[in-house]
Amino acid sequence: MENFSVAEYYREKGKTLYFGKDNTEPMRLEGLSHIIRAQMLGDAEATYLVAKLLLDGVIRSLKYDNEKYALRLMYTAHHRGYVQARAFLNYYCEKLYYEKFRNRYSEKDITGPLIGFDGKSVKIDRKGVLTPVDAVLKYENGRNILYLSVNLSIIAACEDEEYECFCSAVRRGIRMWEGEYEVFGGQKVTVTINITEDKRLYDSIYICRLDGEMADGVQKMIDRIGTDEAKKHAGNIFKARRSFANIGIGKWSVHSRKIIYIQGDDERLNDEYTVSHVVKHEFGHALGLGDLYEDKADGLTGVDSEAYEEINAYKITDKFYNLVMCDSMGVVSNNDIEMVLLAFRDNRMQLFQPFRRLKDISEALGKGN
Ligand SMILES: [Zn+2]
Repeated sequence: MENFSVAEYYREKGKTLYFGKDNTEPMRLEGLSHIIRAQMLGDAEATYLVAKLLLDGVIRSLKYDNEKYALRLMYTAHHRGYVQARAFLNYYCEKLYYEKFRNRYSEKDITGPLIGFDGKSVKIDRKGVLTPVDAVLKYENGRNILYLSVNLSIIAACEDEEYECFCSAVRRGIRMWEGEYEVFGGQKVTVTINITEDKRLYDSIYICRLDGEMADGVQKMIDRIGTDEAKKHAGNIFKARRSFANIGIGKWSVHSRKIIYIQGDDERLNDEYTVSHVVKHEFGHALGLGDLYEDKADGLTGVDSEAYEEINAYKITDKFYNLVMCDSMGVVSNNDIEMVLLAFRDNRMQLFQPFRRLKDISEALGKGN
């Protein structure tokens, strides 16, 4: 606590000296050293400021690559609780991405129904009682629109008011996949999501809110009756209180059962911002996407930087990307939507990296966007 107030003191003093309009150069330099000191004491806003000054080229790191170091600091600032840091990171990565790909497509006048990498028009018409996520691709008034439709069954043992907050956070997380995207060489597609909450037995995505007690219960049950692999996997997930999507590991299809477990301590489960973003990531699994992060214990080796140019702009460190399937707070990118389209077109899970016995990487990767 003491460190915090000292850090805050240096940060505020540093800001006044550095950003003051009529301040002299020596004053600004002194201010800078205070800001850096606050950053080293763990202050979130100071960490953000240092990252920004590095990116603006005002200061340089003597030890590390400037940009890489700045992105890492920006990420740290977010984890220290400075929300603007993530917003900046998302903006920065998207800007890098568009600088790289805009030139490639802007001159082309790409209209008409969506054409895949194979030169054929993309046809998606997945709907019915046994498809928990309906996906229909339509070409209407000169626009390609991917209509996704989900019926939610939300299971949460909590008071009414808490339940309503949880449900609205879930809906918001799913809606984070909506938007305008560019796929298959700069063709535009709009993603819209219709969410219903009717009582249906088969045709639903189940969202279960697992509080500490419930998670312990599930863990105990798996310890008693599970296979060795299940025990290992469960230990990994439940002990770490990680949320997960149960879509039958490696068995995703448009018809497979889709259950999303959101777990954590009560504080996390009542934080709508966190719940929304966790749902955003897990919904990606329901849409047929694999994980992008590295987790050796789970057999995920991660995706090396420079491996695929279309995700490179989102790289924070070597195997860590500011993308939804790497970090729930990350961006939903054009490439992610391309993978969703392929998942529903081909009825096949789309992977960033090999997972257990599945080896085929999504054809969306390595082809640009
Ligand atoms: Zn995941």
